Amino acid sequence: MPLSSPMSDSAGTTRLTVDLNALCANWRLMRDFSGSARCGAAVKADAYGTGAAQAAPRLAREGCSDFFVADVVEAANLRPLLPNSRIYVLNGVFASSFAQTLAHDLIPVVNSVEQAAFWRENAGTRPYALHIDTGMNRLGMTPEQAVAHAQSSAHPPCLVMSHFACADEPGHPLNARQIDIFAGLRDCFPNIEASLANSAGIHLGPEAHHQLTRPGVALYGADPVSGVPNRMHPVVSAETHVLLIRHARAGEAVSYGAAHKCSRDSRIAVCGVGYADGFHRSASGAGVPLRSAVRQGGCGAINGVRVPVIGKITMDLTMFDVTDLPEAAVNPGDWIELLGPAISLEEAATAAGTISYEMLTSLGRRYARTYSG
Ligand SMILES: *Cc1c(COP(=O)(O)O)cnc(C)c1O
Repeated sequence: MPLSSPMSDSAGTTRLTVDLNALCANWRLMRDFSGSARCGAAVKADAYGTGAAQAAPRLAREGCSDFFVADVVEAANLRPLLPNSRIYVLNGVFASSFAQTLAHDLIPVVNSVEQAAFWRENAGTRPYALHIDTGMNRLGMTPEQAVAHAQSSAHPPCLVMSHFACADEPGHPLNARQIDIFAGLRDCFPNIEASLANSAGIHLGPEAHHQLTRPGVALYGADPVSGVPNRMHPVVSAETHVLLIRHARAGEAVSYGAAHKCSRDSRIAVCGVGYADGFHRSASGAGVPLRSAVRQGGCGAINGVRVPVIGKITMDLTMFDVTDLPEAAVNPGDWIELLGPAISLEEAATAAGTISYEMLTSLGRRYARTYSG
């Protein structure tokens, strides 16, 4: 193969495919699991790294009408693509974001007594959502503040919501407590829609559903609940180019710090992905603290066969041990799977000491992206 052929100008050394049909299939699953509740979508952080400009309008066409983003900048970018949807801004409303909130017809999620006063004074009777903290100590009024708000405010919210701290552990006692506290507060807000469940929370059953659910990570293919088989379709596939194959002798070392010592004569695929692409350094095969806690480092896959990362992952380059594959099975210019049918988000995240959410939202800007469906 001529050396100029492996890389055309449209293809770097990493590529990523986002399957929008799989995204929609996952949304329909979450909608069906939500019972009689409407199913929204969390599309914050650029739709968990998958590309909100592609994902959100596709979900809207599928029937989703409620979108949750973190801040007003994300919301403003989405508004032209979602002209008829409700867009909720989870981080709240501030003087600095007020003009944008009105200009783009956004629904702020009011998180404190101060934000409620600010909205009443400046926005009058425009709609807002009210977040109540039922046990996480993150965003939202305390239950007592919410009761006082309900009694004193002439202008009720269009939605009351809360958020689970431990929904991914179905047996955690805090889930039942949050469900109870939220159910108790519902009575203070008669005839107002309520929303409690994220992806994992939807699986806690009908008491968690209320009128609107807010799945995020499951839409993008991640396993929402630990310990049960993942029913979501994979949405993201990531691959890296084999730049060259090198041979190292037994006893030689690989990568920075000489942390990997070859125990045998080895064939090594040097690939064009690194921690700058979100292929976390903590997934290195050796030489990082995590390897004393989680023995198995990161892996790639060639036609479904796993090939381990050896040595430290560097900024732009990673080495995979391909000694066990037939010599013809891997050549410069081939692609190695990093995420996809063989390697799940959860497997990759565990090797890096993190969670699927962080894997998705770290996918780097160098990936050549393709949207299918
Ligand atoms: C991110 C977020 C969600 C979605 O959570 P997932 O666990 O990704 O399903 C829902 N609600 C709030 C308030 C969030 O911050």
